[in-house]
Amino acid sequence: MDQQELRELESRCIQECAPWCSAACPVHVDVRAMNAAIAKGDFAAALKIFTKSVPFPGIISRVCDHPCQDSCKRGDAGSTISIRALERAAFAQAPVTKARVTPLPRKDKRVAVVGGGLSGLTASLDLAKKGYQIVLFEATDRLGGSLWDYPETELPREAILRDFDILADLSVEIRLKTSVGQDIPLSDLQKEFDAVYLGSGFGSRNEGELNVTADALVPVTQETFETNEPGVFAGGTLVRGAKERSPIRSISDGRRTAISIDRFLQKVSLTASRENEGSYETRLYTSLEGIEALPEVPLSNAPEGYSAEEAVQEAKRCLQCECMECVKVCEFLASFKGYPKKYIRQIYNNLSIVMGQRHGNKLINSCSNCGLCKEVCPEDLHMGEICIAARETMVEQGKMPPSAHEFALRDMEFSNSDKFALHRHQPGMDSSRFLFFPGCQLCASSPINVKRTYSYLAERLTGGVGLMLRCCGAPADWAGRKEEFARVVSGFEAQWLEMGKPELIVACSTCYSVFKAHLPHVKVQSLWETIDTLGLPDVPRMETFAVAVHDPCTSRHHDSIQDSVRNILRRLGYEIHELPLSRNTTECCGFGGLMYFANRELAEKTVRRRISESPLQYLAYCAMCRDQFSFEGKPAWHLLDFIFGPGDFEHAAQKGPDYSQRRENRARLKHSLLKDLWGEDVAEGRQPVKLQISEQVRDLMERRMILTEDIQEIIEWAERTGFKLVNSHSGHFLAHHTPTTVTYWVEYSPAEDGFVVHNAYSHRMEIMEELKP
Ligand code: SF4
Ligand code: SF4
Ligand code: SF4
Repeated sequence: MDQQELRELESRCIQECAPWCSAACPVHVDVRAMNAAIAKGDFAAALKIFTKSVPFPGIISRVCDHPCQDSCKRGDAGSTISIRALERAAFAQAPVTKARVTPLPRKDKRVAVVGGGLSGLTASLDLAKKGYQIVLFEATDRLGGSLWDYPETELPREAILRDFDILADLSVEIRLKTSVGQDIPLSDLQKEFDAVYLGSGFGSRNEGELNVTADALVPVTQETFETNEPGVFAGGTLVRGAKERSPIRSISDGRRTAISIDRFLQKVSLTASRENEGSYETRLYTSLEGIEALPEVPLSNAPEGYSAEEAVQEAKRCLQCECMECVKVCEFLASFKGYPKKYIRQIYNNLSIVMGQRHGNKLINSCSNCGLCKEVCPEDLHMGEICIAARETMVEQGKMPPSAHEFALRDMEFSNSDKFALHRHQPGMDSSRFLFFPGCQLCASSPINVKRTYSYLAERLTGGVGLMLRCCGAPADWAGRKEEFARVVSGFEAQWLEMGKPELIVACSTCYSVFKAHLPHVKVQSLWETIDTLGLPDVPRMETFAVAVHDPCTSRHHDSIQDSVRNILRRLGYEIHELPLSRNTTECCGFGGLMYFANRELAEKTVRRRISESPLQYLAYCAMCRDQFSFEGKPAWHLLDFIFGPGDFEHAAQKGPDYSQRRENRARLKHSLLKDLWGEDVAEGRQPVKLQISEQVRDLMERRMILTEDIQEIIEWAERTGFKLVNSHSGHFLAHHTPTTVTYWVEYSPAEDGFVVHNAYSHRMEIMEELKP
């Protein structure tokens, strides 16, 4: 994944786009933040936000033509927020303080500003703050231009004068009753000053040198406000015409021209990075689902504006527009306290630093790759794919800590080793039209259901049903181990070819997705589609009840599998309840993408979130989902328990097997299938040492992902080699062993028949010291 790609992906997340109000506001007042402050009753903070963008708050909060309000998203759910009235309330309710302006050190460049209206005043202020020497020419005897035309009731004189106080802090030289064009020609200003801004109304213009258009407007370059005269800029009414009179646009013109003049005088690009100046259309998306339509809060005393209470109520109507659609539905995205745009930047930083900094590792490895984010994102952004690609890059760069996915990868290796892997034609046949592929987790969770399903398929289908036990490779794919994944896939393919390219019947939707995506030439159907077509087995079953159906996240885009599951349930007589997020918007059970191994706490939160969505018993058709729910105490069934009657699980609340049992179950399943179906006796390996493990230690081992098998190996090795420490107080032995990258420690003592395990733990460091017997 290269940096360019990451940049493009980052730009797709629109969470940081401005809300409609701010994008439409020509000076981009942060209305959302201002409203949030007012909603909390903090008018001082609200005024501070407002004045950050607006230099004349008393004037604008009364006479602004409020394009923000006209674009407000609340308009689609009730009526738009009365933004100008809230600005006025902020101004009226905040304690009166005089904002002090400290200009930058004085520069030797001089700028002439023509016109003392809002645009000229804003340009003067902004440039004076930057340290330029400003001379403001105003044809009349007072500043403010057409502001004085408003009736006193609408814009009190006192409000104008109070706002103009700000000029006193800045050394702007004001020359009243000086008409440029009449008293002083523009060409003189050009000679005397380093730049000129024409921000006057029509009364005092000088068109001589300026190529004025037929409709009597001064033509300027749109983005930069440059006229055809070098160093002369123009804005406001002179450029847009009197018809388009807008106080807030005048301020915006003054500000934008000040930026151009500053750049012009600094001899840098006038056009770079100026895309979102002035009003523009935002790309933001905000869902209105579940939003109650609310009318605006009426003014009880219109001439005075909102009271503090009314303003708080009105501000509370603000939707605080943002996207966050993916974060709302994903525990992973929510738990890192940000959103994809931020996360992609973090991933970018993580991958671009050659060594050392690995702040993003946890983030990158915690996503379950379930794809729900993409389903709800208006921009189709799939964080799962990004995290997997980042994992691949980390593996390629040698930056992936081996411990992150070590357990899952060892488990996959076990499943594809002789201890579990198996492929056979149906007993008595030498070819297979079909091949049942139960997947490693169903075999680990419920071996009896694998046997019952295989017998059922062999009985119902003609042409031979072969059996293949192994792992599809999903753990390697999720871990970003491309090479390992390719090896597993080609290992499968070799056996599949050897069996004569039979059509696959898979019980697990993860296997189904892996085969569909990576082996498109292999014909594959889901077991649920097969059973839906073949009909139910004729066996005694339990009484039916209402269930909430959980679709595994890997079934997300497979409607026909989801339909078949529901058909089967209906035929069995169950009452089906759909969870709020189901089918193509289903959620992960917390196991996918190896989230469970990289971030256990998050995986548990993810399961708990899912199981809290309905009080009903859950029905899953992925063994891992079923076991994840039951681990957290949710009564849950696997669909095969309904089809064949309870098998390994006698009741819904029964927990699935622990890690050690899961391995044991797989190995035993292979042995018993070989023996029962193919009459092959498998030589038992050497007898492992016998262990006594208390419930408490077993729980510890489960949390620490340590298998009984690991402990046996360590004790056997320690006893054989004598590499062990003795605790002189307790007399217990302490031994360690590192099968691959994780070091396991076990504290044990001999017993009459084997050993007692007192404690077991693991760590991710390599042990280098030498222990002498
Ligand atoms: S609802 Fe609030 S944040 Fe959204 S556009 Fe309106 S004022 Fe802005
Ligand atoms: S866990 Fe699922 S929804 Fe959340 S970011 Fe990853 S793929 Fe998207
Ligand atoms: S849904 Fe998420 S990723 Fe998509 S635009 Fe919104 S915040 Fe960004």
